[in-house]
Amino acid sequence: MAKTKYIMYDCAYCHKPTKMELVGEQQVEGAETPSSKAWYRCTRCKHSTLINRQTLTKGKNGDLANIDRSSCIRYSKEQVFKVGQVIYHSEWDDVGRVIAKQKTSDGTQAITVSFEKLGERRLIENVQASFEPEFPQSISTP
Ligand SMILES: [Zn+2]
Repeated sequence: MAKTKYIMYDCAYCHKPTKMELVGEQQVEGAETPSSKAWYRCTRCKHSTLINRQTLTKGKNGDLANIDRSSCIRYSKEQVFKVGQVIYHSEWDDVGRVIAKQKTSDGTQAITVSFEKLGERRLIENVQASFEPEFPQSISTP
């Protein structure tokens, strides 16, 4: 099966969706997973743009349907996550993408994760082992 060479993308120069041609993959040194970013050239204005293909494949259920679980980071409340990271929640057996980060009024850090099956959920992060608030009751909006 041939790779999709052309995509429709909102060109920053043309200011409208144009047909973009794949011109090169981005290689990130030391990265564990292959980069999702690639260079595309606008077929109208010939400008090249670095496009994150992860943000392109938005299907009916977001772009989560084809998440490879083995490449996910296992969620644990002691860890700190970044927006855009894909995590696996072992208790819920679900994968999701971090879509936002919050800091609650009591200083607890939280992430909003868009899960494949469960939808949007808030999870705490960066919790020290000695500090174990009850979730989700501990997350209060001011
Ligand atoms: Zn263009």
